[in-house]
Amino acid sequence: MKKKALLLANIGQLLTLRSTLSGPRRGASLSELGIIEDAAVLCVGGKIVSVGKTKEALRDPWIRKHFKQITEIDCCRRVVLPGFVDSHTHPVFTHPRLVDFEKRIAGASYGEIAEAGGGIRSSIEGVRKTSKSVLTEKLVGTFRDMAAHGTTTLEAKSGYGLDLASEVKGLEAIGAGARVWPGTVVVTFLGAHTVPPEYLGRSQDYVDLLCREMIPVVAKRKLARFADVFCEKGAFTAQESEDVFRAAQDHRLALRAHVGQLSETRLAPFLLFKPASLDHMDYVNDADLAPLAASETVATLVPGANYFLGLARYPNARKFIESGVSVALATDYNPGSSPTLSMPMVMSLACTQMKMLPAEAIAAATINGAWALQLADRKGSIEPGKDADLAVFDLQDYREIAYWFGVNRCAFTIVNGIAIGSVTN
Ligand SMILES: [Zn+2]
Repeated sequence: MKKKALLLANIGQLLTLRSTLSGPRRGASLSELGIIEDAAVLCVGGKIVSVGKTKEALRDPWIRKHFKQITEIDCCRRVVLPGFVDSHTHPVFTHPRLVDFEKRIAGASYGEIAEAGGGIRSSIEGVRKTSKSVLTEKLVGTFRDMAAHGTTTLEAKSGYGLDLASEVKGLEAIGAGARVWPGTVVVTFLGAHTVPPEYLGRSQDYVDLLCREMIPVVAKRKLARFADVFCEKGAFTAQESEDVFRAAQDHRLALRAHVGQLSETRLAPFLLFKPASLDHMDYVNDADLAPLAASETVATLVPGANYFLGLARYPNARKFIESGVSVALATDYNPGSSPTLSMPMVMSLACTQMKMLPAEAIAAATINGAWALQLADRKGSIEPGKDADLAVFDLQDYREIAYWFGVNRCAFTIVNGIAIGSVTN
């Protein structure tokens, strides 16, 4: 399909996130949004080709010459920013976990629920029993809901199948959903989510299966770009996680990990593998901050999980930012600990619970999310040459995105040059 040229004009605040710095945003650069007022963006063939003031765009000779072939969208002085890059989601599941929800309200902990047969293991049966086409259909619905909230690029993990056939099915369902949805989906193999019930007490046997059979198949069939591991008490030890990383690296999968969600794990052995991202990071040793800041690895914070689990403690975003660690925000969309697909909700939590400034939350949800997926050359900012991924919010000031929590103020999105949602008022 030939993508039409689109001119978004009369933008009140355009957050370009442009930068001359190389690498993910850190420290003070995290709050530099590169705002242009009274702005316009021209997108041709799914790419951004020019960015500037509306008046200049309308005088541009190319635009004047081709005006009949261009669809002009009047943004009515609203806020336009790069589409969100949600760099951590678990969308391959079939049912909400409502019993866990009630048990937790009644006082049970995450660990107690897992021990009682709830938690991740209770989602496994649903995925194992469900056909690939039904999983695909559900995924496409999820991707569309995400786009309606401003997300144009997302990472999607497997991890509720936990045997070779079910993991392959989940990864293929993500791939099939990604071909239907116009946005961009990065696929992650999370066979190392938890030890499946049939391997209880034999975690080393499951790690061997992951490393010797599952990772080689996933890599050979190019079903995923990343491998991930949940390093935590009750899931995988640091040593087992290293084994998974080594096997994945040997098979040329890029790396990311769940680290420090419920207990501290030292980061040095992970950083040796140069992972794109280490996620959660609620419990991090202060001595690990300097090496983390000196690396290209992004710390992806997912405060939706803290909120939904009812935790008083959140990751210490201020300490990360002040130490020079690059920070991203993501939803961690999953049925057990973070059933939200709203990046604005996550940004609101980042501001109110982790004391990030609204501008910092925006950079963490866009350009640093793109770095966390190794996609910063194409995604995360509004600059000529990048993919035409934009979100238009029915607001006058970007700070309102995190301010009006629990409501969706995204008017429409441009996803790889295609307008999705109602572009008129
Ligand atoms: Zn997760």
